[in-house]
Amino acid sequence: MQLLCTGFTQQHAFGKQLQAFHRLALPGPCPAPPRPQWNRNRVVRSAVALDGPDIATANPDQQPAVQLTAQDGDLLSTLDDKVQVAVAQPSYTVRILYRSRGTPLQDASDIWAHMGHSGWQFKLDVKLERQSDDPQVWTGSYLIPIKQLSASWHLETQMVFKGLVGGHERWDNKGGSNWTVAVEVAPGVGLVQALNPTYASTRELTSSLLLRLEALVASRLLTPEQGSVLRVLAWQHDMGLIKAYQEIRHSKDERQVAGVLAGRCSWLRPPGLNVVHIASEMAPVAKVGGLADVTASLAKAHQASGLLTEIILPKYDCIKYDDVKELKKMTTLQVPWGPDPNRTVETYVWSGLVDGLPVYFIEPNCTERYFWRGKFYGEPDDGARFTFFSRAALEFLAQRQHEAPDIIHCHDWQAAAVGPLLKETYRASGLSRTRAVLTIHNMAFQGHLNGAFLQHMGLTQRSAHVTSPDIMLDGNAAPPAPANGNGNPYAHMWLNLLKGAIVYADRITTVSPTYAHEVLGEEGKGLQHMLQRHRHKLAGVLNGLDYETWNPATDPCLPAHFTPEDTSGKRACKAAFLREVGLPFDGVLPGSNGHHSSNGNGAADGSGSPWGPNGRPLIAIVSRLTQQKGLHLMKAGLKAAVAAGAQVVVLGTAPDPKDQAEWEALAREVGAGSDARIILRHDEAMSHRIFAASDMLLVPSMFEPCGLTQLIALRYGTVPVVRETGGLADTVRDVAKGVPEHEKNGFTFTAKDAPAVEHALQRAINAYRDGRSWWQHELMPRIMRQDFGWTQSANTYQRIYTEAMH
Ligand code: ADP
Repeated sequence: MQLLCTGFTQQHAFGKQLQAFHRLALPGPCPAPPRPQWNRNRVVRSAVALDGPDIATANPDQQPAVQLTAQDGDLLSTLDDKVQVAVAQPSYTVRILYRSRGTPLQDASDIWAHMGHSGWQFKLDVKLERQSDDPQVWTGSYLIPIKQLSASWHLETQMVFKGLVGGHERWDNKGGSNWTVAVEVAPGVGLVQALNPTYASTRELTSSLLLRLEALVASRLLTPEQGSVLRVLAWQHDMGLIKAYQEIRHSKDERQVAGVLAGRCSWLRPPGLNVVHIASEMAPVAKVGGLADVTASLAKAHQASGLLTEIILPKYDCIKYDDVKELKKMTTLQVPWGPDPNRTVETYVWSGLVDGLPVYFIEPNCTERYFWRGKFYGEPDDGARFTFFSRAALEFLAQRQHEAPDIIHCHDWQAAAVGPLLKETYRASGLSRTRAVLTIHNMAFQGHLNGAFLQHMGLTQRSAHVTSPDIMLDGNAAPPAPANGNGNPYAHMWLNLLKGAIVYADRITTVSPTYAHEVLGEEGKGLQHMLQRHRHKLAGVLNGLDYETWNPATDPCLPAHFTPEDTSGKRACKAAFLREVGLPFDGVLPGSNGHHSSNGNGAADGSGSPWGPNGRPLIAIVSRLTQQKGLHLMKAGLKAAVAAGAQVVVLGTAPDPKDQAEWEALAREVGAGSDARIILRHDEAMSHRIFAASDMLLVPSMFEPCGLTQLIALRYGTVPVVRETGGLADTVRDVAKGVPEHEKNGFTFTAKDAPAVEHALQRAINAYRDGRSWWQHELMPRIMRQDFGWTQSANTYQRIYTEAMH
């Protein structure tokens, strides 16, 4: 039996019949269908002969029971020798031809086609007209409203016929089985093919498909949502789905079968990728450094470009809860965690909005009180705290009812356990398609975890593998093993979490191209060989700046606003900030006509002073006060700047108590004078005021993966003076270098000693004093206009995600 065949051969074979049919363009409620754009070649190419014992290629001499072809824009389905249906595209006009000879309606005076769509949900009667040259041939047509298509690509029409015979109603319902035609609609093309779903081979194929769908959902290769949509499509005899299934029906590779079938409802997926960031920081609610800014601003940039982006954070007690909207407890998980494989930790997942982004907060309810420490990091059990966090985040993703995310983007060592856990423990928990992208914001922090925690991670079965030197065994100096390992066979070894993340990640990024190069050498901090081995996965993507948050024209933290076109507000910010910290402002306030000292404390008239209307240069440092940031160069720079007549402000925190004590002493020493202030705390709002108020920003880092402060400074017209390393080298071009003028934006040095920073600062101070007009009217507006936003970098991440998916 012929089920389905298209093409010119058949068209010629049925030419006569078709011609007769098409002469039946009937008057009535349906407008004449617009001239179709039917592509005949397409019909030939899309011809399909389904395999099976009762399917054969068309034989034009033998009238097949169902015949499809194209004629003047119509798809014709000859359902049997009694009924033909033609469907014109793109108006969905259905034309019916009914031969009443030999049927219960043979002697009818009137005949109606009784039509139904989508399982008889939408019914209507179409009165047929008797054809004048053959009184036993009746024809009619009607227009299907678009909303009656059972899916945007699928049309199914059922019909029976009724007539008046001797004044009584009689029915012809094909012996109870009705006539049905299912038509496939190609997006943008229109109707392309039809089949008769009543044939045995189709029925068997459909049933096989339904059973296979059940199995694929049960084995979590398809989501329940995909399963139910595909069931409906199969039920409607969606020809595209059935054809697709026929080709892979006998495949033993269930994953492949699921992939092909899932492709038939790919419209179910959002237009972009679904990315979940797992991170320990997010601005502004949980910020220690640049990682927080990147998590928030990259997610925002991706959300804007169509990706579905979510963030998972620990629920620290010290989160700025005022900045979390709609915080509520969402669900409770039992997260496997402990030396005993049966131990679970009751864990609450909270949801909330941070800066308009969806965030989930993980709160374990356990004796360890992992995130009730009054601080983010610096606890002896940090390794365990954040490995638990990683596991709980995966448990949450595996258990939630949505489709698994395409990408889990893990940040730094705190989320590093996600890679090994995803690939070793959670692969079989519905996250098999999910890919892991790791961003290393700082190689100096790698995360150490005692081997006894292999059990907590569910990795004891794979312990021999993961504890090998090529995978997670810590080859660097790690803390001493606990004296009492409780007999745990792995307590004597240490795992390096970042190393494991490098091995298991599908893609790795660092936060600037130069740093990506540097980490393959000394800056790899012991993991350079590992990174070299995995360098095919590695890329450097420069961090961008969130221009929504960091915008001097709108920043709510500032007393005055400014733009590259009008920088006068910056001077007002400077005057206000100096007043705030008790330093004199000896410039000219905007609007004061350049004749007055602003603070009334006897400073020189700005216009007459050698420093010009902005007064003495204010040089800022906004930084963590750690060795990485070049502590000795900060101090040397501070002294040199003050000696050269500049003012200095330092805003920072020193996690090391020894450093803290030294900075406190220095703060006391300079605090009494009129040249410098050192403020030892984390103060987000003040950092904004400092970036706006200052003329220069000093960033003398020993190494700098990317660095955000120089980018903020540029945006606020504050000229960076930086050591050429990592991201600083990628973003700051010395004004004296042989680079295009529009790229010049700061002062740089390379050596790590005091004379280098002193010399660079002196050059900057001289330029400020001697080239007032250039500084103010060229350099400042230029650096403010330079683009270090997220657009380009967010696109690069998107490309990396897409590559990771393949
Ligand atoms: P890192 O992440 O290595 O600390 P970055 O330059 O990438 O360095 O990012 C530092 C971020 O932290 C910037 O947004 C900076 O403004 C901010 N920051 C650093 N120290 C302080 C502080 N004491 N108060 C407020 N913000 C600070």
